[in-house]
Amino acid sequence: MAVQRTFSIIKPDATRRNITGKIIDRLESAGLRVVAQKRVHLTKEQAEGFYAVHKERPFFGELVSFMISGPVVLQVLEGEDAVAKNREVMGATNPKDAAPGTIRADFAESIEANSVHGSDAPETAAEEIKFFFKDEEIVG
Ligand code: UDP
Repeated sequence: MAVQRTFSIIKPDATRRNITGKIIDRLESAGLRVVAQKRVHLTKEQAEGFYAVHKERPFFGELVSFMISGPVVLQVLEGEDAVAKNREVMGATNPKDAAPGTIRADFAESIEANSVHGSDAPETAAEEIKFFFKDEEIVG
């Protein structure tokens, strides 16, 4: 399996509880390397654009409000099979369904405030990385 990049967000519920380091430790311990990182407060337009695929879903408005409720940490992660590996370490969307030992099982507050985002496929990863990072901001 080749080295891949994926896109990750540490969400506002986690920055609020000051547990970004704990989450990054889980990612690094799984063999993922942080090759780009910035802490920002998303605008409403950025959050709506990023989650545009969900705009018809009933939870869209609440999700956008949550994502702009505090700072987030945007990251590009690199490693072998990075997309799948990140999803594995994150756990299922709903923390009630997340496998023991995953980030969401251990840290998420709810299905919405679930601490992390991770790209679901290599193509999505490329689009999401481009949405937030310039090439020169990624330092492998
Ligand atoms: N979400 C929500 N309610 C739901 C499903 C999802 O608030 O019923 C939020 C949650 O924060 C999730 C995000 O919307 O992480 C994107 O949903 P997706 O199904 O893409 O899950 P993910 O890929 O993040 O596991």
